[in-house]
Amino acid sequence: MQTHNLGYPRIGSNRELKKACELYWAGTINAAQLELTAKKIREGNWLLQQEAGMDLLPANDFSFYDQVLDTCLMTGAIPDRYHPLIEKEHINPLDLLFAMARGYQKNGYDLTAMEMTKWFDTNYHYIVPEFKRDQKFTAFSNKVIDQFNEAKKAGFKSKPVLLGPVSFLLLGKEKEPGFERIGLLKNLLPVYFEVLEKLDHSGAYYVQMDEPCLALNLGEKAQQALQTAYTAIFRRFPNLRIILANYFDCFGDNLKTVVSLPVHTLHLDLVRCPSQLDDILDKPEFINGRTLLSLGVVDGRNIWKNDFTRSLALIRKATDKIGAGRIWIAPSCSLLHVPCDLDLETNEKSLPAEIRQWMAFARQKLVEVAALREITLHPETAASKKLLRENAACIEARNSSPLIHNPLVKTRVAAITPADAKRNSPFFARKEKQQQELGLPLFPTTTIGSFPQTKEVRAWRAQWKKQLLSDADYYQLLKEATGNSIKWQEETGLDVLVHGEFERNDMVEYFGEQLAGFAFTKNGWVQSYGSRCVKPPVIYGDVYRPNFMTVAWSTYAQSLTSRPVKGMLTGPVTILQWSFVRNDQPRSVTCNQIALAIRDEVTDLEKAGIKIIQIDEPAIREGLPLRKEQQQEYLDWAVTAFRIAASGVQDKTQIHTHMCYSEFNDIINDIAAMDADVITIETSRSQMELLDVFASFEYPNDIGPGVYDIHSPRVPSKEEMVALMEKALTYIPAERLWVNPDCGLKTRDWEETRQALTAMIQAAKALRKNIIAPVPE
Ligand code: GLN
Ligand code: ZN
Repeated sequence: MQTHNLGYPRIGSNRELKKACELYWAGTINAAQLELTAKKIREGNWLLQQEAGMDLLPANDFSFYDQVLDTCLMTGAIPDRYHPLIEKEHINPLDLLFAMARGYQKNGYDLTAMEMTKWFDTNYHYIVPEFKRDQKFTAFSNKVIDQFNEAKKAGFKSKPVLLGPVSFLLLGKEKEPGFERIGLLKNLLPVYFEVLEKLDHSGAYYVQMDEPCLALNLGEKAQQALQTAYTAIFRRFPNLRIILANYFDCFGDNLKTVVSLPVHTLHLDLVRCPSQLDDILDKPEFINGRTLLSLGVVDGRNIWKNDFTRSLALIRKATDKIGAGRIWIAPSCSLLHVPCDLDLETNEKSLPAEIRQWMAFARQKLVEVAALREITLHPETAASKKLLRENAACIEARNSSPLIHNPLVKTRVAAITPADAKRNSPFFARKEKQQQELGLPLFPTTTIGSFPQTKEVRAWRAQWKKQLLSDADYYQLLKEATGNSIKWQEETGLDVLVHGEFERNDMVEYFGEQLAGFAFTKNGWVQSYGSRCVKPPVIYGDVYRPNFMTVAWSTYAQSLTSRPVKGMLTGPVTILQWSFVRNDQPRSVTCNQIALAIRDEVTDLEKAGIKIIQIDEPAIREGLPLRKEQQQEYLDWAVTAFRIAASGVQDKTQIHTHMCYSEFNDIINDIAAMDADVITIETSRSQMELLDVFASFEYPNDIGPGVYDIHSPRVPSKEEMVALMEKALTYIPAERLWVNPDCGLKTRDWEETRQALTAMIQAAKALRKNIIAPVPE
């Protein structure tokens, strides 16, 4: 019964990799220095995993940017635009990798970066492979073999981790018409053979092939591709022991294919989907075969201590049926998605000891894996009994802790009725009342909420947090920033103003800090993309709102102007999605608790005289379960939670929502069901294409399609924005269109913002003229 780990966080316990990469990009350190930092991280991680009790350590789980990008380099799937960098500029491999990830603007080149998108249902972003019809693959980078050899040389027993060929193809994008990327498998497999051949020669005994596409609803062709790939690999390398890893959900109807694959070990995510253990143990072809099972019983996606009793029951079920000799124990997925080390959390104020003892980060999770094996194999020893007893006591302490249970919150959630999730009147009736109240022109102009978070603003907050700035001084500075922004918006001629969100560090953390039931780590960083890390709050207990959260800022801003100022809130689904969530109750229950807290704020804003309230939900889409079978259930509770948050107000109060991504096709029904009076969305880069689905669905409420791409320093012209809106007008009638940027402006600077918004207001004026007095034919 081996213990193994699928992958360890590569950023380093103190974000060493982030810091070194950024220094390298700034030209402060050289490639050799960066490589040295990376080597230290890898060796440190191997040592730490071995000490935690892992038999088999992952190699090649390290990446300077992203493992999918590394696979592009491994297979030579390098888009043509980067070829001159290799052939003419002879840039080093590291710079090629960063050019593909971040773009390249040097020596007369202006190469765009490859696209990035979310890795399954996580908040990690991977680089999207680009495929052509006649895509060639060649073994290009030797990183897999190098890193395996590095581990070997340092004395560690490792298994190289590769992204499997089928998932690699499916995660990519076809950059020209006329082919299906899954059909590229026959070109791709020879490269995998070459890599495996080298690994075989270097003495790799085990190879972990990650095929997380197995958690999706795969068609016939993808299933066939899996069959082809793994049969061919087995025929060529009968001595390599392939560990086929699936995670984030169950195999579902891919199971029939999976059990017939000639692999050495199948890894199952039993945290996300415990029931699949029964499914697989019911298959005679599996029972009678020799394939091993790797049981992913320790949660690689959350920060709670493992419940040994529950994990041991799963392990026992498996050993009873196929014997301990066919069982391995592991975390449910790569530990990339959790912070490194709980031992670094020493701040009692942000993370009280009582809560801290319920938690486990990457390092602690591996110790749990080792303990589970120990208890399974030697249940009668004093040591095992102690481990089990202590774990049970801790789990029980958490379950019954008054810290997490608030009877008032539970009663209130239980008392939610359908009426709570419904506005008083339908949209058309509300719209009339809102129009009377607000008297907005056609094509009202607004922004999404944040204004530039300049160096000064961030410096004030940093000083205030270090108590170098008093509360009074800090708030005074924020008030001035808010006042200036209101004055500027009014002078420039925006119709609906925002206060600017200067007081906010992050749209989730800001609310978490003011809600009961949230805790914060000091060092709980998780990689989001490249060198970017996030530090998600921890929802440990029942959530409620002890006090007003935004009312003071909104009313202050409103007091400075006669134009409407939007109240600005983060929605319940986004708060849930971007936090570590408690695992002792369904996500939907936690979401409803947050929804009620936001609802309280919404109604208090209304009472304080705020006429327009925006509830941002940029994360609704990413919470969508991977398997189709589960998606509608999620959408139902997520939409209901938004509506609970939004529906406590009178008809005349206008509710906005905002989302910044562009795949609405499959969820447009549910977006409409949110019934926000106005939705603002990101459309400028897609040239309004996504309005297509809003038009064909006959989306009934108001829409603000973004006309200003805020991800780029580029300032769009008035004409450009008029053209975009004219395009929007071919989909949506003028009476239902707003004019706004794609998203918040916090990452932009003031100069660009002023220019772009001034042009945007001129664009709206031009549109009004054209509509009211159309140009004669
Ligand atoms: N109101 C937020 C802002 O303007 C919205 C951010 C987001 O959509 N991610 O920054
Ligand atoms: Zn946005």
